[in-house]
Amino acid sequence: MSFAPRRREAAEAEERARLAPWAARSGESAGRLFAEAEHPYRTAFARDRDRIVHSRAFRRLEYKTQVFIRHEGDHYRNRLTHTLEGAQIARTLARALRLNEDLAEAVVLAHDLGHTPFGHVGERALNELMRGDGGFDHNRQTLRIVDWLERRNPAFHGLNLTFETREGLLKHGCSWPHPVEPPQRRAQPSLEAQVADFSDEIAYLNHDLDDGLRSGLLSLEQLEDVPLWARTRAEVAQRLGRAPQPVLRAQVIAALINRLVTDLVESSAAALAEARPASLAALREMPQPLLRYSAEVSQWKIGLKRFLFEALYHHPEVDKERQRCETALADLYRAFRNRPELLPASVRARFGDEGAPRAIADHLAGMTDRFALAEHAKLQRAGFTAEAPALPS
Ligand code: MG
Repeated sequence: MSFAPRRREAAEAEERARLAPWAARSGESAGRLFAEAEHPYRTAFARDRDRIVHSRAFRRLEYKTQVFIRHEGDHYRNRLTHTLEGAQIARTLARALRLNEDLAEAVVLAHDLGHTPFGHVGERALNELMRGDGGFDHNRQTLRIVDWLERRNPAFHGLNLTFETREGLLKHGCSWPHPVEPPQRRAQPSLEAQVADFSDEIAYLNHDLDDGLRSGLLSLEQLEDVPLWARTRAEVAQRLGRAPQPVLRAQVIAALINRLVTDLVESSAAALAEARPASLAALREMPQPLLRYSAEVSQWKIGLKRFLFEALYHHPEVDKERQRCETALADLYRAFRNRPELLPASVRARFGDEGAPRAIADHLAGMTDRFALAEHAKLQRAGFTAEAPALPS
């Protein structure tokens, strides 16, 4: 065994030997928008991951809402902890399926950077305010952040990530122009990108259940009607016997994650063994995505998702907060449109190139929950209210 440091070329050779034929290999990346010298030790995808973790947008995730808008407890998830839970699920999936862990992890770590304050409530409100100006979509905003809005390098805008990471962040089209060439869409994204999508969903379904139960907005009785929960809980109870309530809850959540991950690994491995795409290029042209649950678990998962939508995401307590957050964002947007002098000079400086609405949307989308509420309180003290003057037509 050699004790010399492992150089990037050696890491790339290990990837070629270890990964499945359809996995993404960092040594075969389609490259970055701006050519850069490779790193002596880190692979291209490891470098993408590191750039994402060091970005300003990543640090803001800590103060952005997942579901629970009021931060009434220190144990609830926020977008940062959601992202980290998703990333570790992605590593497990990628490792088991012989895919590129660094790439899957990079995509998950970046996938929520474009979220507005106040979660999907904020996204819907901003999309409504931007109607007629291209709208707003958090996935497209994520790509905009990594491709353009982050400024760390004198030579280029953005983080200059590889094509493969950017492809994983491109979910669907959007009607507003992108400042650089967007990654080209194929029939399917890489399996690493598919892993990132499933990991995001596994993470939020389970931690929202956990937070929902902890907050008292959901009850154990309600969940007995959800087959995936009921079956998993029965198995855990049989194994555990009597256990304190929080321990039982933690064990059921862990078993649920395990069940979804295991089923996904086994069903996808079977689908891949049958389809056997010769390469990543061949995989991108497959008519169906090859990462998939078994038919039974897929149905159960849909049932759980439906339950969470009805019982948690539209719970009257959550809805009550929703109104307040929508109003805050709308007030801020209108105030900034009518009185640009309220904006930081750096935002106003972008009016010429981007147009005022997009520059304001970027500013609003970048806000954390607490910053948006503080800005709104400042406006209210200055005399702007929900009856802020209408937009000039
Ligand atoms: Mg997410």
